[in-house]
Amino acid sequence: MSAPEYKQYTCNLCGENSVVVDDFHREGGACQHCGANIRFRALMFALSHHLYGQPIALTNFTPDQNLKVMGLSDAPHYADRLASLFNYTNFFYHTKPFLDICNIEGMALDSYDVLISSDVYEHVPPPRHVAFVNTHHLLKPGGLMLLTVPYTMLSKTAEHFPHLNQFGVVRDQQGMLLVNRRRDQHIEVFDRLTWHGGEGSTLEMRVYAEADLIQIIADAGFKDIKIWHLDESEFGILQAQQGGSFVISAIKDGDRTPAAITPYDPYVENIYSEEAEVDHFLINRPVRITGERAENAILQWQNGKVTKAPSLWSKILRYLQRKLGK
Ligand SMILES: [Zn+2]
Repeated sequence: MSAPEYKQYTCNLCGENSVVVDDFHREGGACQHCGANIRFRALMFALSHHLYGQPIALTNFTPDQNLKVMGLSDAPHYADRLASLFNYTNFFYHTKPFLDICNIEGMALDSYDVLISSDVYEHVPPPRHVAFVNTHHLLKPGGLMLLTVPYTMLSKTAEHFPHLNQFGVVRDQQGMLLVNRRRDQHIEVFDRLTWHGGEGSTLEMRVYAEADLIQIIADAGFKDIKIWHLDESEFGILQAQQGGSFVISAIKDGDRTPAAITPYDPYVENIYSEEAEVDHFLINRPVRITGERAENAILQWQNGKVTKAPSLWSKILRYLQRKLGK
């Protein structure tokens, strides 16, 4: 084993020089100055190209209050700067300003120049195309969707709960279980849930396959779909060997009507069956359980003993910590 190679780069968020080990994860490689990880740097790299046709640091972006930008739970590493530059709103699912991308009733349509959605659409309930169709509706014609989600190069998407309908999460001595009453009234219980941001935080609904994503984005009425898969070592964006989960950008095609919003999944061909073996480091599939533990979970759920949305409290806490400067 040779020593890891440290590469010097200029962080394109804070503009400072930093070093990164040439062995990373998209959530790793944090800038020593501002803490921006590879995913955040790759996002702002793509945004800079869209706005200025070249990579410049976020600190050197040109202020423009006419540019209407929406973030969905954007990280403060770039959200704070975007807010000072543009007509920018960072929306949240659990706190103000609220936005549920799966239900955009009351929102102004065709009005945003840029919508940034970083690691959100793997958490929206099925059917997964609704979030993309709504993104199209919120953007102006020619507007930019800047997206990240964890995804693989496998042939299909691993949709963890394809029959999700009325559901809740309960806790027993062994951990957390998801109880779901399907449309056909059958009740199912799942163990081995995957959470992002810690147990009980944000539930992973799926791990996309790139091909499925691209089809859904195209059908939602986007053009010029670009996958930002290259290494940009000048900015410490070392990601090529990651083999997926790259930043994707796409432009709203104003001449196209997006796919219809349906209660069912129009892309059911694109998902693995529950029985299919899926072997990939990004994928932990929940398992359906039956028997006493499942029965108890169903009782808990029916008695309303669902876990108090801990994500709400953790998000409020994080928000306050941010406001108070930790
Ligand atoms: Zn930085």
